Amino acid sequence: MPEPGPGEVLLKIGGAGACHSDLHLLEAPAGSTSFTLPFTLGHENAGWVEQMGPGATGFAPGDPVIVYGPWGCGLCMNCRQGMENYCETPGKPSPGGLGGTDGGMAEYLLVPSTRYLIPLGSLDPREAAPLTDAGLTSYHAVKRSVHLLGPGSFAVVIGAGGLGQMAIQVLKALCSATTVVAVDTSPDKLEIAKTMGADEGLISGEVAVKRIKDMTRGRGAEVVLDFVGIDPTLTMAAQVSRVLGHLTIVGLGDAAVPVNFNSPAKECSVASPFWGSIPELIEVIELAQTGKIKMLVEHFTLDEAAHAYDRLHDGKIAGRAVVTPNG
Ligand code: NAD
Ligand code: ZN
Ligand code: ZN
Repeated sequence: MPEPGPGEVLLKIGGAGACHSDLHLLEAPAGSTSFTLPFTLGHENAGWVEQMGPGATGFAPGDPVIVYGPWGCGLCMNCRQGMENYCETPGKPSPGGLGGTDGGMAEYLLVPSTRYLIPLGSLDPREAAPLTDAGLTSYHAVKRSVHLLGPGSFAVVIGAGGLGQMAIQVLKALCSATTVVAVDTSPDKLEIAKTMGADEGLISGEVAVKRIKDMTRGRGAEVVLDFVGIDPTLTMAAQVSRVLGHLTIVGLGDAAVPVNFNSPAKECSVASPFWGSIPELIEVIELAQTGKIKMLVEHFTLDEAAHAYDRLHDGKIAGRAVVTPNG
């Protein structure tokens, strides 16, 4: 059990979500990453305060909290605005569970500062954990485009897995007038997407492109969110994006979308957001507390964590796999 140092907090883990980014890490070719192995995975964490380090204040043992994941320096301009996901200080600490720092797939997690803890209120940490990445990343990706999504608008969500399902719910919560189209290779995921508010579910590929063009009277969608990021999905995303729209790449599929004068559509902005800010996480928790968003969660013991990743790899996790090291 780690000992919290000055200002740190020791958290008893309730749930640690298994993100597809962990699979990208696990599958990275040997030598292609810069961090030192081994370290503990788990960057989507929630639990209960176990012990406050010397000088840490504001929380008490037993408090249910969720952990903001992208830890920064806390002092640069972006960090001071709560955007530690875009910390610009060289040599900043890496987020727990990514980049070599121990994460939450363990009984206990050391959190470097109380500013990363958001109270969960009545939410159960075992259910809520994915809100801090699947929820927050999707929320941030949608929120920057909300002004485009008025009546008559269309939003396309490519990849209706953990993040995509959250994006669909966030779109419905923030932009109730927009038509949400989910695109996936799995019919099961499309069925789940519809239960979460998607107006249409389409199998990924040329037929989906044609259907979206038809639905939008040839214009394309105001916002296209790609939660996969491979060649076929980015090609599709560029084909169905509208003039003055947003093409947002969230998936780490490592492909590229050519941008030139003719494609994507004129003045369509291409962006690649990473995670989200601390104030946005507070807003995500508000949405969850009021029942407007809810992650579809499947629980695994710590011993079953590797099995959970195998299932995620095989596309067999319906929503999010969450490891519960303390039962
Ligand atoms: P997931 O495995 O839960 O979901 C991926 C979904 O994509 C699945 O439903 C799968 O069926 C679908 N899919 C696969 N190939 C497809 C295709 N060709 N067309 C349409 N759908 C397809 O993964 P996740 O945890 O939701 O993560 C999604 C992506 O987002 C991953 O690449 C992950 O690394 C990335 N990610 C990015 C950030 C960020 O800050 N940008 C944060 C977290 C995760
Ligand atoms: Zn993640
Ligand atoms: Zn910083």
